[in-house]
Parts: sequence; structure tokens; C-alpha cells
Amino acid sequence: MKLSETYIDQARQTDIIEVIGRYIQLRRAGRQYVGLCPFHDEKTPSFFVTPGRGYYCFGCDAKGGNSIDFIMQKEKLSFPDAVIRLSGNVPDYSRFQHTKRIEIKPLQPQVVDYIPFEKIRLYLEDFKANNLFKFFVTRFGELVAEKTFKIYSIGTYSGLTLFPQTDLNGNIRQAKVIEYDPATGKRNRTKNPFHIGKQLTGSENLQKCFFGENLLKGNTLPVAIVESEKTAAISSIIYPQFVWIATGGKNGVNPANPENNRVLKNRIVHLFPDVDGVKTWKEYADDLQTQGFKVFLNDVMAEHAEPGSKDDIADLILKNEIILSENIFHVQWISEYKNLKTVWFIMDDRTNIEIIFGLDDYPLPYGEHESDVNWIEHRFNRKYEPALFDGETVYCYKF
Ligand code: ZN
Repeated sequence: MKLSETYIDQARQTDIIEVIGRYIQLRRAGRQYVGLCPFHDEKTPSFFVTPGRGYYCFGCDAKGGNSIDFIMQKEKLSFPDAVIRLSGNVPDYSRFQHTKRIEIKPLQPQVVDYIPFEKIRLYLEDFKANNLFKFFVTRFGELVAEKTFKIYSIGTYSGLTLFPQTDLNGNIRQAKVIEYDPATGKRNRTKNPFHIGKQLTGSENLQKCFFGENLLKGNTLPVAIVESEKTAAISSIIYPQFVWIATGGKNGVNPANPENNRVLKNRIVHLFPDVDGVKTWKEYADDLQTQGFKVFLNDVMAEHAEPGSKDDIADLILKNEIILSENIFHVQWISEYKNLKTVWFIMDDRTNIEIIFGLDDYPLPYGEHESDVNWIEHRFNRKYEPALFDGETVYCYKF
């Protein structure tokens, strides 16, 4: 049997970025995409993919022109097998020239089930038995603790803390249970957190969402994303200028994934990775930027926490070791100006946005706009980098 030409063409034209993206994470760099080579071990990316032209690795010389080449090389398959692999693993005899054409049904969209609120409600009552609640009370008092638990619908599950994941439409997607120490507020690391969605519903079709996602509804506040649910809740008390949501840890929600980031559209997004997550979250930030999101990576943790430390941003805030710059909130203020043309602000490594320099419609502190640019370049011996903000030009000074 011989594969039909049309069939081969289809395989040849499969999106090479998507195909290679199943193996490695690709980051856009102009026309090209770059990532860690899937054919050799490396720490800095030397593998480049150009849509329409193919891929090339500067480290091991691996190269090819299209998705078929890649699959043959990566999976060590023959040409026809690679073509078949690219077309999915469903037996389909229309692939072969001498057989009759059979229609293939498109895949059904995935069904997502929810946890009925009644199944969760009974866990939302008894705060007194909740270790994390006890910790919140010692730090913030009972009133604030209770208010925060209610805002996030945090519950109690046999003394452990229950975090429902409620999506933008108010549907409960999953529920996670974590054990805490009441005195320190730290997670008990000898016991793994677990999800009880399946146990409550019997469903295999539950899908995670951000913890606190429902709080994005009905406001335009900037969004702050952290890893842990507890951190989101604590930070929301101290910095209510943000809507704080959580990915739910390393294996939680990937904020760069289009399935998840739909809820972040048209928002200003600040990412606050834990100290061991900065590298991965930098990739999330790049990925989100490529997708057109207004995203800022705040790696304040990298500067203030010990390497290998389990502290997260809430720990440092509670220890008074960091104070988030007030100026960070000006970004939101700027975005509210519809007639905004140009903004100048100074960025630094700690808070990303340190000083709002001036707006087109407002007097600048140092005279004319252009001369300000020159003045800053002269004063700090730095070139500005034009960047986009709200579709307009922004000049950022990185320190
Ligand atoms: Zn290579």
C-alpha cells in the first residue's frame, strides 16, 4: 500500500511549532521560535524553529524542513510511519490510495464537570476547627480572618483547609485540601495536598482553574498570581489593590495556557513566583507576552529569599522583609487614561515599575519630553527600550 499524496501533504503541512511544542517549550523570538534542543542535552537554548522553513540546532546540528522530518528523527520512524503518526493514531484507511474514503468524526470537545455547591457548602461553616484559620486569627484578628475565608470560600475538611477552585462563571471546578500548622501557618510537608472533586462527584471530567478566579468578575483591578492559595489569601489582606489568585503550586494551573488565561484578557497581570519558580514563571511571562498579555514578572523573591528557601511572598510580607512599592499600583492608574499616548516610567529589577516618569497630558518633572529621554540617557547612561503598553508606546528604563 502506498500513502496518497494529499495525505502526505497534509502531514507535511502540520504546524511545526505545534508538533515540536509537544516535546519542548518554544519561545517566540521575532520570526523564529527558540527552545532547548530535543535531540541533545543542553541548558541554554540553541534549537531554532522557523515556520515554513524548518528547524536547526546550533548545538548538535540536528535539522529538518518540516514536521515529518522532525517526527522521523525524534521518534525514529520510517517516512510512512511518521506521516501516519502526524495524522493521529486512529486507523483510517482513507490514508491509502486504493481504499475507499471513510469519513472521520472530529473529536468531541472535552466535557467539563463541576462540583455542585451543595457538596461544598457543609465544609464552609466550621472555621474554628481550621488550623489555617487559627493562624490567620493570630495575625489579622478574627474579623479579618473570617471575611477573607468567606471571600475565597475557604472551608474546613476534617480540620484541614479546603480551597475550592471557582471559575469566572461561579462553577466550582475542583477542591483542594491542605494541612497547616496553626502556630506557624506553614504547610505540613509530610502530607501531600489532595483534591476531593472526584470523591464528591464521581466525575473524571473535572478540570482545575485558578483559586480565586471568580473574584476577577465585576472589577478591573490588576491581577496578582501566586503559587499557593494561602499566599493569595494573605496578600489580599495586605495588598487589596490587586485581585490575588493562585495557580495551586507546581502542578497546578499553567497561567500561560490559553485554556486558563482567557480570564486574564484585558487585565494587567503581575506574576509573583516562589523562589524556586522564577525560571519557569519567566517562561510563562514571555509566553503570555507573546500572546498579547500585559504581564509583569515580579521576581522580588529572588532578591529577598534565601536560595532553596520555602518562603513565599506572603512569608516575607508577614516578616516585614519586603514592602511592595506603592508605585506598582500606578500602572493601573495609567491604564485608566483612555487618551493616553506616551508614558515614561523607570523600571527596576525589584518591583519592575518604580517611578512613573510622566504622561503626555501631564507636565513632566524635567521639561520637554524628548529632552527628558535624552536627560535620562545621559544621567543614567542607559538607552531606553520602547515597549507597548495599552497599544501605545512606553519607554522603559531598566536598572
Ligand atoms: Zn541539539
